[in-house]
Amino acid sequence: MQPYEKLLLENKAWAQEKKLKEPDYFERLAADQRPEFLWIGCSDSRVPADIIINAEPGVIFAHRNIANQVIATDFNCLSVIQYAVDVLKVGHVIVCGHYNCGGVRAALERQKPELTLVNKWLMHIKDVYRLHREEIESQPTEKQKADRLVELNVIEQVRNLSHMSIIQNAWKHDQRPTLHGWVYALHDGVLKQLIVLPPGSEIDVIYQQDDAQT
Ligand SMILES: [Zn+2]
Repeated sequence: MQPYEKLLLENKAWAQEKKLKEPDYFERLAADQRPEFLWIGCSDSRVPADIIINAEPGVIFAHRNIANQVIATDFNCLSVIQYAVDVLKVGHVIVCGHYNCGGVRAALERQKPELTLVNKWLMHIKDVYRLHREEIESQPTEKQKADRLVELNVIEQVRNLSHMSIIQNAWKHDQRPTLHGWVYALHDGVLKQLIVLPPGSEIDVIYQQDDAQT
């Protein structure tokens, strides 16, 4: 059997099992989605959002990219955020990074000539490193340096979210969403909270939208 054929078989078994437990399961899900959470995570195959928080389909609206970045010129991520915040009206946005992140570790190294696109994507993490170089370099081991950059990257991405007009408008008019930064440990499967920004949190003045100040 080809590996992809196993996926299709597993899907059939899963759908049958769900239907057996709850006959109208798919009809109910198909009718509408009202997720409470937007999840922005890493593409890493070991950090599947729904599984690590034991969530059923319908709970998490998700966007994943290399090293869970929120970049102001990334229309893909921005479209997901706009739809989640303005249409689905999620109450929470979670940025979730993970220790031993290949993207973050690569950002600490020289650029790889064969990975021209990935290099550009990782530039933003290099910027986070440069912003916090002293703190990161004060860590005793290479692993701890990379782990601290993982944490700081999550915190910076949460701040990036707060700089966006989509978030500032929702904070002003709807008192949501709360922004969260979490980090996941691959070795024990446990999440740790790093930062939480409730609606109306202080934002550096240069990122404030003019009419969001009132
Ligand atoms: Zn990763």
